[in-house]
Amino acid sequence: MLRRALLAASASNRLRQLITTAPQTRAIVDSYVAGETADDAVRVTRALRAAGLLVTLDYLGEDTKDPAQAAAVTDEYIQLAGKLGAEGLTEGGAAEISVKPTAVGLFLGTRTATENIRRICAAAREAGTAVTLDAEEFAAIEPTLRIAAQLRADYHDLGCVIQACLRRSEADCRALASYGVRVRLCKGAYDEPESVAFTARRDVDSCYARCLRILMNGPGYPMLATHDPRLIQITGALAMLTGRAPDSFEYQMLYGIRPAEQRRLANEGARVRVYLPYGGDWYAYLVRRLAERPRNLAFFLRSLRSTS
Ligand SMILES: Cc1cc2nc3c(=O)[nH]c(=O)nc-3n(C[C@H](O)[C@H](O)[C@H](O)COP(=O)(O)OP(=O)(O)OC[C@H]3O[C@@H](n4cnc5c(N)ncnc54)[C@H](O)[C@@H]3O)c2cc1C
Repeated sequence: MLRRALLAASASNRLRQLITTAPQTRAIVDSYVAGETADDAVRVTRALRAAGLLVTLDYLGEDTKDPAQAAAVTDEYIQLAGKLGAEGLTEGGAAEISVKPTAVGLFLGTRTATENIRRICAAAREAGTAVTLDAEEFAAIEPTLRIAAQLRADYHDLGCVIQACLRRSEADCRALASYGVRVRLCKGAYDEPESVAFTARRDVDSCYARCLRILMNGPGYPMLATHDPRLIQITGALAMLTGRAPDSFEYQMLYGIRPAEQRRLANEGARVRVYLPYGGDWYAYLVRRLAERPRNLAFFLRSLRSTS
């Protein structure tokens, strides 16, 4: 209930104003976000690589309504890919790139988004790495998967994301697994209606487990994005059962969340990738993280009270 209310309130300009100007918010932002610039992101990537972790970088921002803004986000990603490549951070896909299709113009038309994503894929390839398209609100899912399928003809390593909360996801996993695609499986961070999504936690978790089984049994490259200890354990068990080599799948977690678990898995020989956001437009990302964790929310509300 609280999660739903907070996600709905994330559209409120008044709340945005309150959150982005509260001084104590900065401490929470800093724990989830690498910094404002590509250089900040590269610096944190270097540190994560030194700790044996893989990285996927996200330039914060979404739901772009302006073609010039979509082009500017695309240019930022192209520059970022160049910087990562020049630093040798992309070797073997060690640092890759995550793109939100709505940030590069999905809601301006699929043509705009497709061309922008194509440019980012080309820059990533030039730098020796790959791109994954994030999954966003329900209206963006179908066009995102279509763009990914189209671009995969030229960029076979273009990854996509499945949200276990969606009723369609098991079928999507089956289709993607049979093509041997790189698929990130997450629970889903958006508030969707009953008609298209499971809303009870246990139903989302069961769907995650079913999707996980499909992906782990398929010929593709599963990327299991969760901090949930039970699902991480099931992933390990399924890897043994299906005889998957440690380099044929990876765990993914968000920057700042369960860092000790990230290191533990990496030290055991697993591939672990950290999702690392950077940039000034952190508001929507932060609200989704607050909605996932009541303890963070309580801290944040206290900070608001003390500044109002
Ligand atoms: C690498 C990665 C990429 C993602 N990409 C997408 C995407 O493209 N589209 C999308 O919709 N969603 C994405 N997500 C978000 C995801 O859908 C979930 O909202 C988020 O990961 C929380 O779910 P969980 O699986 O960790 O399980 P939960 O049941 O939410 O959490 C399990 C445990 O993890 C810890 N934890 C979880 N969240 C937090 C937090 N915010 N702060 C501190 N501890 C926490 C707690 O210990 C909690 O008990 C991504 C997540 C990851 C890890």
